[in-house]
Amino acid sequence: MTEILEGPEAIVAALARLGLGEPIAFPTETVYGLGADALDEDAVERIFTLKGRPSENPLIVHVSDPEMARDLVTEWTADAQRLADAFWPGALTLVLNKSELVPDVVTAGGPTVAIRCPAHPIALGLIESLGKPIVGPSANPSGWISPTTADHVAQGFSEEDLLVIDGGPCRAGIESTVLDLTAQEPRILRPGVISHTQIARVLEKEVSYAEHTVGPESGITASPGVLGAHYQPKKSTKLVESADLSDAGVDTYVIAWSVDRVESTAHFSVLASDPEGFARGLYAALHAGDASEASEIWIERPPESTDDREGGSEADSLWSAIKERLGRACR
Ligand code: AMP
Ligand code: MG
Repeated sequence: MTEILEGPEAIVAALARLGLGEPIAFPTETVYGLGADALDEDAVERIFTLKGRPSENPLIVHVSDPEMARDLVTEWTADAQRLADAFWPGALTLVLNKSELVPDVVTAGGPTVAIRCPAHPIALGLIESLGKPIVGPSANPSGWISPTTADHVAQGFSEEDLLVIDGGPCRAGIESTVLDLTAQEPRILRPGVISHTQIARVLEKEVSYAEHTVGPESGITASPGVLGAHYQPKKSTKLVESADLSDAGVDTYVIAWSVDRVESTAHFSVLASDPEGFARGLYAALHAGDASEASEIWIERPPESTDDREGGSEADSLWSAIKERLGRACR
């Protein structure tokens, strides 16, 4: 049975479990994470088992400040410091060469480690109190929709003995941007909340995109978790044009942003038409669609925006990250 707790009682219970090497779920500003002491190999193994996550997909390590990050890498670079100054705590994950301290299981045996400092008081408080970094993959069974509420986590792990700290709905609603700093040129491995434009402005240099971010199936394995299908509802899910929404049947769950309802179905979620609001509500709408009696999910295609790779505005950039998630959700 999952147990949802809030307030100081939740933190105390979670710290006790972390100390015993047991997984817990905690809120961050992006999505809920599954936490374990990042330096405890057995505890991290349990996270992979609990999620059903392939062992070749590395985990993000969460720290409470750049000082804690320094111990996890061979070199805390000038670029890393500038980015941490600008965006931490926040939704930017930095990939750097790992130090001996980080168990191989965390990095899927690879030489690099992904690190982020989450902008959520509960997440930061947990890490500070533990005095150690914690891994925090999204708190969903591998492949399913990421959770943005404590209830979503409980739905995903209803059969498990898992403590979930309830911190309310996540503010950002989609995952962090993952940026590789180990090569000559910084490279975005996963688009996310922090945009290409924001990163390039801080670094004052070219920032590229890993090829695989162009299309889900292009097959480069720099960041295994961004390949192929992901974030998927169990029900058949597709993108539809605004003009076609009225074709929805009684059995269709519609997620729309340009209209308040469609006449032909009672199954409906309305998202905000701005990218921040859309991102914040998207996963909850997908969860609702999956939990509903409808047999399929339709998502209204988001408005036209300039591709982030072509230097759009910050709003355009968030739309790019949203569209990347939608591309993986549909089948
Ligand atoms: P999740 O925490 O489930 O949102 O997924 C974490 C993402 O970070 C996945 O796409 C991973 O493949 C990626 N990731 C984690 N560690 C690394 C690393 N060392 N190098 C590249 N990508 C990583
Ligand atoms: Mg995930």
